[in-house]
Amino acid sequence: MRRCVKCKEKASIYLPHHRLSLCSQHYVEWFEERVQRTIKQFGMMEKRDRVLVAVSGGKDSLSLWQVLHRLGYEADGLYIDLGIGDYSAKSKELCKKFSERIGRKLHIVDLSQELSTIPQIKQLDSRPACSFCGSIKRYYMNLYAKKLGYTVVATGHNLDDETAVLLSNVLSWNLQYLERQTPLLEEKDGFVRKVKPLCLLTERETALYAVVTNIDYIEEECPFAENATSIDYKKIMAQIEEKSPGTKLRFYLEFLRKVRPALSSGTQPVTLKPCSVCGEPTVGEICSLCRIRRKLSVKTQNITELPDPS
Ligand code: SF4
Ligand code: ZN
Ligand code: ZN
Repeated sequence: MRRCVKCKEKASIYLPHHRLSLCSQHYVEWFEERVQRTIKQFGMMEKRDRVLVAVSGGKDSLSLWQVLHRLGYEADGLYIDLGIGDYSAKSKELCKKFSERIGRKLHIVDLSQELSTIPQIKQLDSRPACSFCGSIKRYYMNLYAKKLGYTVVATGHNLDDETAVLLSNVLSWNLQYLERQTPLLEEKDGFVRKVKPLCLLTERETALYAVVTNIDYIEEECPFAENATSIDYKKIMAQIEEKSPGTKLRFYLEFLRKVRPALSSGTQPVTLKPCSVCGEPTVGEICSLCRIRRKLSVKTQNITELPDPS
């Protein structure tokens, strides 16, 4: 029988790549300490920062919100209602319930009012939904963080997400994307600072934390997720991890330590300028969101005040 390394009681959790056995209570402590250490290690934020957590109703973003709150950060949530049928309706309710549980504010952006829903945009766009959905979410997260006076946007990307993207970028040697793959993107050219405090924790570890601390999260996948290529890369990484525990963490940390610094010094920095339509930062003349707006023939609207969370 495995025993918790902290209290010697019966362990309920074993983490192979850390060779660590823990009881539930000490697992929660370990997880939260690891998030705090990651924040410190990468200099992600200070207690005086105002943090906006991008929440989707899933285990990663809600766990992150809870940990930041428990660690004493001033962290509120931002939920973007993408209008994806029952999936969005259910995830929005879970986010609302969760914000009440921890007593923090939840801001809600309704995409059908701002632009159009993801299923409607999909009818006009032949690309996989995730490719434009990702840029839409990033756009509104950044826009509302600035508008609402937050200094940091935190997302729930975990180690599995990061290594899947890393593998895909390495296989295509996409140097520009590799250079931007970092757990901390500093505030720059109209972008608020972005951080990923769960980047050293696996999907399984986050799911365990959510279950042990009774977080009510959405278990269904977004209906568009099945076509996401990242799922294939995650499966490949999981197979390698199974044979050789610790590979994911090593792959990611060694990339950050050895490869990325060399890339940053060798690649031309991307020049950003304000989009000629909406004024948000972009590499081209018109940002990707305004291109979608054009397709939808929706006139750029002034952004209205967000309703008070209720
Ligand atoms: Fe958007 Fe794709 Fe995520 Fe669904 S799976 S919410 S379409 S990014
Ligand atoms: Zn214990
Ligand atoms: Zn624009």
